[in-house]
Amino acid sequence: MLTINEHYLKLQASYLFSDIAKRVAAFQAAHPDVEVIKMGIGDVTNPLPQACVEAMHRAVDEMGTVSGFRGYGPEQGYEFLRKAIARNDFQARGADIRADEIFVSDGSKCDTGNIQELFATDVKIAIPDPVYPVYLDTNVMAGRTGGFKDGRYEGMVYLDSTRANSYVPELPREQVDLIYLCFPNNPTGSTITREQLRVWVDFARENRALILFDAAYEAFIRDPGLPHSIYEIEGAQEVAVEFRSYSKSAGFTGTRCAFTVVPRACRAFDSRGNKQLIHPLWNRRHSTKFNGVSYPVQRAAEATYSSEGKAQCEALINGYLANARIIRQGITEIGFHAVGGENAPYVWIETQKDSWEFFDLLLNKAGVVCTPGAGFGKCGQGYIRLSAFNSEANVIEAMARIKKALA
Ligand SMILES: *Cc1c(COP(=O)(O)O)cnc(C)c1O
Repeated sequence: MLTINEHYLKLQASYLFSDIAKRVAAFQAAHPDVEVIKMGIGDVTNPLPQACVEAMHRAVDEMGTVSGFRGYGPEQGYEFLRKAIARNDFQARGADIRADEIFVSDGSKCDTGNIQELFATDVKIAIPDPVYPVYLDTNVMAGRTGGFKDGRYEGMVYLDSTRANSYVPELPREQVDLIYLCFPNNPTGSTITREQLRVWVDFARENRALILFDAAYEAFIRDPGLPHSIYEIEGAQEVAVEFRSYSKSAGFTGTRCAFTVVPRACRAFDSRGNKQLIHPLWNRRHSTKFNGVSYPVQRAAEATYSSEGKAQCEALINGYLANARIIRQGITEIGFHAVGGENAPYVWIETQKDSWEFFDLLLNKAGVVCTPGAGFGKCGQGYIRLSAFNSEANVIEAMARIKKALA
């Protein structure tokens, strides 16, 4: 008899986006004349930077020639891309990361989900609340939690991000082994300072723990004082793995390219307490279970580091940040407490009522779709997330409607 992995049965069905779609469809059917503006999505809307399009075209043409054809590439990524990443994303910021510490992949979603395969089942996991659901669900699948009770999985340590701590969680009071952090944050748009990040790095060092640092929104940082990489913090190389993606920085959500940084010095322990390096384990996992990102896509990712590519990506992000500013200003003007939107494409808004109730209010009175904060965890109740991934005209129109509906 073939039995299933019963941990999958613990997973809470994610009704969030299907619930949103259902409510929007019902509203649209009742009000066919209203043009609904969708500000709920965490997906980019602008086309690819021209430099990336051209690089991809050139690479496809190369593949169609005898001399330029390439079959399987290195699983870890082509040297040209790994070198460009190490130089531009890390060394240029004073972080001593080498090309052979970069693992190119088809997405941070997969990487953040796959990395936990390297660790024992009984490790203690700390996860932020509200959270990007991938961190949580992949650990549930792996059997690292108990059942779901009162909105949370048993056995997990939740790191509350609330107004009281400015949406940067405090250190856990108990021993934890694996810590997920994401800054700039999805869904709150909050950021972490160097000093605050240093506290986490020191904690991981003292507690023989490891930090999984998701920097998917690093490119949105405009405040020059904020760290772009955890490796800007001294001592982080031994205790942190970092995830980066071209999805939000270059509009690659449909193109697919990302990378994970596993420094040579990064360590965990075996059951006898002996130090074990993570780099060879991840290298083994990656080369056994993954066969590399396509050559044209890696050339497109490389093009984000050319001078034209850098300027085009920056213009792309500046557009979204301008939208975020309009959202944040508009919502603050009518008296709501909000964070994010300054170094991130998301604005996190305290609603003073149930998340879904506020969702319905915005939909019915303004024809605007948001994401109810409760969908990201218990601490998201009483909040909504507005996303800046839209056209400027739509954002301006949406905020005018919201002001009229709520003021
Ligand atoms: C969008 C996003 C990513 C990127 O995921 P990809 O699989 O690379 O598209 C990673 N982490 C967070 C928190 C995100 O919101």
